Amino acid sequence: MRRLALSALVAIAFAPSALAQLPSAKTVDLGGGIHVIFGQGGNIGVSTGPDGVFVIDDQYPGTAPANLAKIREIAGAGPRYLVNTHWHGDHAGGNAAFAEAGAMIFAHENVRKRLSGQVKSIGLNGQPAPTSPEPAWPVVTFTSGVDFHLNDETILVSKMRMSHTDGDSIIRFVEPNIIHAGDIFFNGIFPVIDLGSGGSVKGYLAAMEEIWAMADDKTRIIPGHGDMAAKADLRKQIDMLTGAIAAVEKHVKAGDSLQKTVAAKPLKPWSKYAWSFISEDSFTTTLYNGLKQ
Ligand SMILES: [Zn+2]
Repeated sequence: MRRLALSALVAIAFAPSALAQLPSAKTVDLGGGIHVIFGQGGNIGVSTGPDGVFVIDDQYPGTAPANLAKIREIAGAGPRYLVNTHWHGDHAGGNAAFAEAGAMIFAHENVRKRLSGQVKSIGLNGQPAPTSPEPAWPVVTFTSGVDFHLNDETILVSKMRMSHTDGDSIIRFVEPNIIHAGDIFFNGIFPVIDLGSGGSVKGYLAAMEEIWAMADDKTRIIPGHGDMAAKADLRKQIDMLTGAIAAVEKHVKAGDSLQKTVAAKPLKPWSKYAWSFISEDSFTTTLYNGLKQ
């Protein structure tokens, strides 16, 4: 089942026909020059102003022309700075097109290592993920984080612990109190925890708790996937994951096989979190394998 989930993601990343099945793009204005582009792939954050357009993530190669047009419409200019929250093709797939449009790409060093193939990411089919062409590689890399001072805003980019992958960053717009959580937050659906890219089940939970602790009741959170969220929504997601981990861990500790664990349907209480890429069974498998590590 896990294998199916990843091949679906890979297929989406490379098959334009599959994109048509995903929800169409919508843009939300958060005020203060900050916008979010929702649609196919990861949610894109955009900060506009006199110092240049700052963008978080860029979805797929196939969606890049429409997203660049949308950014020019919002900002009156193309992207100048781009931060990748992590290497996945539904967040960094548009890198080459965005670089061509004038964006300088920033990311944690592990994002560059994985996009360039210096470190291989193992897909859920057990095969190494394809390497991206050089124009897609971040040109500025960091280890713990980088701060931007643009458009009268302080924008803090912070590397998180091994969680969704080994190269996840979150981005905080300090004054307007907005956090882009990347794929450390799938709002209302089972998350992808990419064990083949250095992800960690317990690390994922801890990283969510860290973001929760950074937020206050007024913080607006842009999740990697799903609708805009508040701190309370993040808590619901943390509670789901805490319960799901405990339910699967019981089987791991009892020495049950993966097959037996999946057959026991331990995630039944959270079945409403299943979605097209991550079924109850595939998420059970991820948690089992991650907890066994
Ligand atoms: Zn991802």
